[in-house]
Amino acid sequence: MSADPPSSPLALAARRHADDVIKPQVRDWERAGAFPRDAAEAAATDGLLGLFAPEAVGGQGASLAEAMDVFEELGRGDAAYAFALSMHNAVANTIARFGQPELCERYAASLVSGELLGGFSLTEPHAGSDAAAITTRAVAVDDGWRVSGRKAWVSLAGEADVFVLVCRTGTERGTGDVLMLAVDARTDGVRVERLYDKAAGAFLPIGEVSYDEVHVPSYALLAPAGQGMRAALGAIDVARVDIAAISVGLAAESLAVALDYAREREAFGGTLLDLQAIQFALADVETDVVAGRLLYRAAAAALDDGRGSVLAAHAKRFCPDAALRAAIACSEVLGAYGLLNEYPLARFLAHAKMLQVVDGTTEVQRIVIARDLVRR
Ligand SMILES: Cc1cc2nc3c(=O)[nH]c(=O)nc-3n(C[C@H](O)[C@H](O)[C@H](O)COP(=O)(O)OP(=O)(O)OC[C@H]3O[C@@H](n4cnc5c(N)ncnc54)[C@H](O)[C@@H]3O)c2cc1C
Repeated sequence: MSADPPSSPLALAARRHADDVIKPQVRDWERAGAFPRDAAEAAATDGLLGLFAPEAVGGQGASLAEAMDVFEELGRGDAAYAFALSMHNAVANTIARFGQPELCERYAASLVSGELLGGFSLTEPHAGSDAAAITTRAVAVDDGWRVSGRKAWVSLAGEADVFVLVCRTGTERGTGDVLMLAVDARTDGVRVERLYDKAAGAFLPIGEVSYDEVHVPSYALLAPAGQGMRAALGAIDVARVDIAAISVGLAAESLAVALDYAREREAFGGTLLDLQAIQFALADVETDVVAGRLLYRAAAAALDDGRGSVLAAHAKRFCPDAALRAAIACSEVLGAYGLLNEYPLARFLAHAKMLQVVDGTTEVQRIVIARDLVRR
């Protein structure tokens, strides 16, 4: 089941991208500590940077159900890279679908072609799960807004050319005045303040970006005051399913590595794979892979039908936890060798923790699920 053939031409392209571009180079990317823009351009050639964007701007116009397997395939290669592509796709799709014509003309086709990269910026140093506490402020001026504040955990900081920025017009916490803007990263007053030193994913720059009286033109409005948080959460629902699919890819690849190793490693007169304790450990991982895949596909289909926030939360709650279990179990099968960088399992362990946090932590998913339970 884990080595199923890809389910669509896009998923096949993603598997090729993982096998031919990500896996052979990811350790070099880690060592170089620089985002591989050439790899992203190769992904664009395969249609992977405009998955949901309309065909009019060069995108694939795919439904979530059609395209979600792409993220499982990318997750087999590297979750940090796959996450960057998930964020980029969210930005390309948001600008192409909700941007005014002038904004689309400037950015949409270039995002889809990989000439430009996009980042999504909601989190602030003091406001993560509690997104209603953001303070980055957009003050209306004649021809747009002046934005001031500081964003944290900005993926592709220093690398992205355009950010989808969630900010507010007032000073009180809440969502009634939250709006969503597109901000060109080259605008005066946008500055990368620090880049985080992380345990894994050194090639994916993540850090804090400050906005000092940054002028944002009127045509860059993506969602007006009062509708910004809802728009952001809509994009995040999709990203949660992306993360669930990436997690399943990470678990499936962990299993493939452990199976190969256990088949070859001789012990006690046979191979590790002859030992039932090893078989059982891998059987549990396979159950998680199968269950996770069914769950993220169901969530993608439900979001396509205009519902699905709760299923997206279930998928985001379950799949990264399953990925962490898989990385631990499969690393154990390799014994000491699981710790070597020639195998991906130590990197996968760090990434599985990351997947639990991004786009809403496991606890935040429990809040969404529990609220629905109580309401029903
Ligand atoms: C690798 C990485 C990339 C990221 N990229 C981006 C990005 O591109 N753009 C962006 O905007 N953000 C990004 N983020 C930020 C991410 O969305 C936040 O880290 C996340 O929302 C959690 O916020 P926090 O880290 O401030 O934790 P906090 O909100 O401070 O939470 C700390 C802990 O308390 C728990 N907790 C919080 N509230 C509750 C509650 N009510 N009930 C129970 N438990 C609770 C949390 O689950 C967590 O375990 C990224 C994060 C990481 C790790």
